[in-house]
Amino acid sequence: MLQAAEGMLKKYFGYDSFRSGQAEVIEKALNGSNSLVLMPTGGGKSVCYQIPALLMEGITIVISPLISLMKDQVDSLNLINIPATYINSSLTQTEVNERLYAAQNGEYKLIYVAPERFESPQFCSLLENLRVEMIAVDEAHCVSQWGHDFRPSYRTLSQVIQSLPTSPIILALTATATNEVVDDICNLLSIERENVTTTGFKRENLILSVEKGVDKLAFIKGYVSKNKAKPGIIYASTRKDVDKVHSVLAKQGYLVSKYHAGLNEEDRKKAQEAFLFDQTDIMVATNAFGMGINKSNVRYVIHYQLPRTIEAYYQEAGRAGRDGELSECILLFSPQDSHLQKFLIEQTLLNPELKQQEYKKLQAMVDFCHTEQCLQVNLLDYFNENEQYDNCQSCSNCKDGRERIDITKDAQIIFSCIKRMNERFGMTLVAQVLKGSKNKRVLEFGFQKLSTYGLLSKYAEKEISAMIQYLIAEGYLALSEGQYPVVSLTKESLPVLLGQVQIFKRGLTVPTKQRPESNSDLFDRLRELRKQIAQEESVPPFVIFSDRTLRELCEIKPVSMDEIIEVKGIGEQKRDKYGERFLLVIHQYMEDESKKIQAKESVENLEDQQPSHLVSYTLFQEGLSVKEISLQRERSLVTIQNHMIQAIEEGYEINWSDVLSDEEEKLIGEQIAKVGDEKLKPIKELLPDEIDYFKIKLALTKIKISEVEKASC
Ligand code: ADP
Repeated sequence: MLQAAEGMLKKYFGYDSFRSGQAEVIEKALNGSNSLVLMPTGGGKSVCYQIPALLMEGITIVISPLISLMKDQVDSLNLINIPATYINSSLTQTEVNERLYAAQNGEYKLIYVAPERFESPQFCSLLENLRVEMIAVDEAHCVSQWGHDFRPSYRTLSQVIQSLPTSPIILALTATATNEVVDDICNLLSIERENVTTTGFKRENLILSVEKGVDKLAFIKGYVSKNKAKPGIIYASTRKDVDKVHSVLAKQGYLVSKYHAGLNEEDRKKAQEAFLFDQTDIMVATNAFGMGINKSNVRYVIHYQLPRTIEAYYQEAGRAGRDGELSECILLFSPQDSHLQKFLIEQTLLNPELKQQEYKKLQAMVDFCHTEQCLQVNLLDYFNENEQYDNCQSCSNCKDGRERIDITKDAQIIFSCIKRMNERFGMTLVAQVLKGSKNKRVLEFGFQKLSTYGLLSKYAEKEISAMIQYLIAEGYLALSEGQYPVVSLTKESLPVLLGQVQIFKRGLTVPTKQRPESNSDLFDRLRELRKQIAQEESVPPFVIFSDRTLRELCEIKPVSMDEIIEVKGIGEQKRDKYGERFLLVIHQYMEDESKKIQAKESVENLEDQQPSHLVSYTLFQEGLSVKEISLQRERSLVTIQNHMIQAIEEGYEINWSDVLSDEEEKLIGEQIAKVGDEKLKPIKELLPDEIDYFKIKLALTKIKISEVEKASC
């Protein structure tokens, strides 16, 4: 069964092997078990249900929360000839009925449906007429009220599924879920705990960093100027900030879109599409943007402010690099950000228990900004992963070159000050007492009489606060939940007070950063072609090919349809549809490169005894093939081919049958008679794939030579 699944993976999606977790999930689905898969964004969840859907006889319903995602998924599937459609509020009732009717006739393998549909009894009764074999619940964390995107309509799902006559199996998928949420999903969707597949949340291609105390706007201006033409998202917490950042970047001439709930639906749609279709490079948005955005080549996500929870942060940051390419996630932190989030929590209508929960989550987010632990490891710990991970070596903490200083003494002073203040006050007042401030509140409580008063006066109040934040993040201190949190000691602080444990913290020097490399010329050309094709087909560019596929094309530089199918992400359909056009761009690039090299060589060769093309010619006469010469001389294949043509044009003889058969020559001659010899491309298009540009050039040269010979007779 798995073999058949692997066959599908290669044929339709162009991949040779399954990624971690995929085979296991597919096998479970094909064996008829309900299951849940936890896989990070970009891990390849779609394939987990798309392949079983192809192998099952009936229909798979995919429940997906957002309309834009559905359309992209369906477009992508249709492009590779997998029959799929979607049903959501963007359609009229007649269209919905037509699609359901077609589904009854077995015209679709997959139907994407918004969860809200399941609240309609009419829709549910229509569903009963379909042979539904599997229900894939995407973004399954929305089922749980402990999840960060709880959707009440997801709650009705399990009843509807159970009432279907075909008893379909359930495959739930999500990228972010704490243990609590996993339990909830399993209970609600009748999934056995043993059928939960977790591949971890680790995203090796994301370079995480937290920037504290920077001028945020200046940082963004600097960053985007260094990363021109790379698609990126900048998240801000409020509409006002979105407008501000957007206008600053637009004024500087960047191609930038904006998205927030204050814009009308049409403007939002336009902005989203411009970004998806690579017409703008930067999207400045509130968190209203992104859920269900499937753009795979987002190279960076910058958070202009602190998000509310780690789940939200990881989901938003995780929109970078879905294609597996190196991408940056930068969080710009300032202490005021958490005040804003607290204010927003207070504005919600959540009950006190849930509000408390939100404060706890916010604190974990703040701790993330203050920890000196590897940021990847910190995130993974949050999601309760039991596994031990190595430091990522690429986040801002791992790359921080500053020396770690022993702060045990200062920490002891802080702890004892908090103790003396009876663990009843917030961080700011503690810092003021340690600084020796004559602030009204300090004096009001008589804290100037404490023995710890002014003991850290050598530091700025801000520095003392930062140290307290750090001690909270590292678990020595705790903050109570609520709008006015109180700082207290944890049991971890005791060994420090007793002198049994030391605490280290980094001092101040400029951290070093590594940025991903810039794009190559060929990559840009391929990107341009992708954009052109995407426009012709009215789909976003990443639906045609991912950045990763383009990057692999740059590396492998395939020269034939046989070679191009070896590239990851190119299956049979895409090879047949786009292969030729991409091969042509690669060919043109190699020609241009070889011209550049030739120009360089011709200068170098002035000093050489024998011109470079004649060196190649001599090697050929000695029995080496063109490919062998290219390997031996470390020159591109096209360069050596051009050497050969040049040598032949100069009158050097070769054994023609070594390079061009009579049959090939005849065939090429016939096409030249039809379309002329001005351009190679029209000739190539009429010929079988095996006849490459080199053979066409050889035939043309041979014709030229024989014409010259005839004329001179
Ligand atoms: P998710 O839904 O988990 O965020 P996707 O399903 O969108 O991820 O997949 C992310 C990318 O990984 C897509 O470009 C997809 O084509 C690619 N992908 C999926 N499975 C494989 C595989 N087995 N080998 C290589 N790439 C894969």
